[in-house]
Amino acid sequence: MAFLITEDCIMCQVCEEQCPNMAISQNGDGYDIDPYLCTECVGHSGTPQCIEGCPIGAILPHPDFRETQRELEEKFILITDLLAVSA
Ligand code: SF4
Ligand code: SF4
Repeated sequence: MAFLITEDCIMCQVCEEQCPNMAISQNGDGYDIDPYLCTECVGHSGTPQCIEGCPIGAILPHPDFRETQRELEEKFILITDLLAVSA
């Protein structure tokens, strides 16, 4: 599943810097995670890096994006191709 950032976010930027998929961006009042770019860090790390780094626990599972390990792996391959094209 993808993750989302709650209104508790204190805008420390840690998660944005740690996301390997560039799925996290500032939205003015806080930060957002693009659920179509979040793979739970599958393909990069064994644990979600944004959750590991958030100092206040402001990142939670997204209820509308529940994906299997295989779906996340396929998403990772697709995103990697997209990022390579846009680089
Ligand atoms: Fe980015 Fe990983 Fe967090 Fe998803 S779990 S938003 S891919 S750092
Ligand atoms: Fe907000 Fe947590 Fe990301 Fe910092 S790490 S910007 S507090 S969600």
